[in-house]
Amino acid sequence: MSLRISRDQNFYHFNPNIEPVAFVKPGEEIILETHDCFQGQIRNEKDLVANLDWNHTNPATGPIFINGTYPSTILRIDILDIDVDDQSVMVTIPGEGTVGNRIKDMETTIVKRQGNELVYKENIRLPLAPMIGVIGVAPSEGSIGNGVPGLHGGNMDCTLIKKGARLYLTVQVEGALLGLGDLHAVMGDGEIVAVGAETAGNAKIKTETVDLTGLPTPFLENTESVVTIFSDPDMNRASEGAVNNMLDFLTRFAGLSTNDAAMLMSAAGSLRVCQVVDPAKTVRFEFPKAVLAQIGYQLPE
Ligand code: CA
Ligand code: ZN
Repeated sequence: MSLRISRDQNFYHFNPNIEPVAFVKPGEEIILETHDCFQGQIRNEKDLVANLDWNHTNPATGPIFINGTYPSTILRIDILDIDVDDQSVMVTIPGEGTVGNRIKDMETTIVKRQGNELVYKENIRLPLAPMIGVIGVAPSEGSIGNGVPGLHGGNMDCTLIKKGARLYLTVQVEGALLGLGDLHAVMGDGEIVAVGAETAGNAKIKTETVDLTGLPTPFLENTESVVTIFSDPDMNRASEGAVNNMLDFLTRFAGLSTNDAAMLMSAAGSLRVCQVVDPAKTVRFEFPKAVLAQIGYQLPE
């Protein structure tokens, strides 16, 4: 039996002073129910964002206090499963997103789920690919709105944060104060109109503390790759951050020389965009585990 946290136990800012809604031990499975990023305010195509109460958007469920975690603990979060609702919401907002200057009309489109597909405007089918938009820990001080990504995680909108992935974050306050929300039934890299298929649902996770002090986080691993994730208001800086973090990982943890790491990154790694529409943009660098295996390095189990 997993611990289940209600979507109504939520917060809007990652902040060290919020009372935890639950205390868990590493290794314990937790199911977090989540609202969509509009907190259910948009239910049909007549509900437009013009009427949205923006103070009640991007809720994250939590925060969860993880026993035995302290500042600089590396927290590993296994994404065990993501379940999304039968309907998700997409919107256009004039002025929002990368093509906001060309969008004249505010629109709401309800996307229905049918099995493993999403149906867009009756006849266009997209494969279901659930992911978590917002997941993070409290910063050591101050308050970071859930719409903002950063070193604490937050609104990274990274399509790799899905079932089977392992996300690593550096704990900044005792207990970590972990929260997540903003599930997408599907989203393209970039999130160019500023929404994915926004949906309520739930995410099943398990946390573990791991002996990887100094790991450049946010960091992710899946079956194919290790991934560094970096956010900055400037795209160039976001790219440089992700690349430098991978170079740090490969030299400090995997034991490669700077030149070998750089050449192998250039030959076999991929710099990719997570999103370009939030207050800071998020970029990732993916490096194949197949290369790590050849140099005899693997992350602790
Ligand atoms: Ca988001
Ligand atoms: Zn979202």
